[in-house]
Amino acid sequence: MFKSKKINGKLVYHINGKTIKKMFVIANKAMENTFPKPNKGFAVAVLTKKGNIYPGVSYNSDTYTLTMHSEAVALAHAAIHGETEIIAITGPNCHICKQLIYESSLRSGIDVIVLINEKEEVKQIPISRLMPYPWPEKPFL
Ligand SMILES: [Zn+2]
Repeated sequence: MFKSKKINGKLVYHINGKTIKKMFVIANKAMENTFPKPNKGFAVAVLTKKGNIYPGVSYNSDTYTLTMHSEAVALAHAAIHGETEIIAITGPNCHICKQLIYESSLRSGIDVIVLINEKEEVKQIPISRLMPYPWPEKPFL
């Protein structure tokens, strides 16, 4: 469905423009469902190897500590549907979420593409490039 190359032992996908556009539309639409207030927070979309797109929204807690970032929610959203082979996610993402994305890539063997919408161009950056000294080397669980 999507073209991929093996680079440094991991699959790296190239995401076509139509899919990228769809992912940003879905992420932007999901902003209506940020919790507890609509359009106050963050939303992303993940793309799975099967070609499905799952949005995630930030889910804030009054404790702040318990707040869930939209990336974690989107990854869990895909997992609920039995999909853990994530090939791309809209960005930019905070460093906590980069860690989660990196761990997803560690488990799936897919170097997840982070899509950065910069002016009129969308950059496709593998998570490995955003995590030059990653930890851990292997999944614990
Ligand atoms: Zn985050």
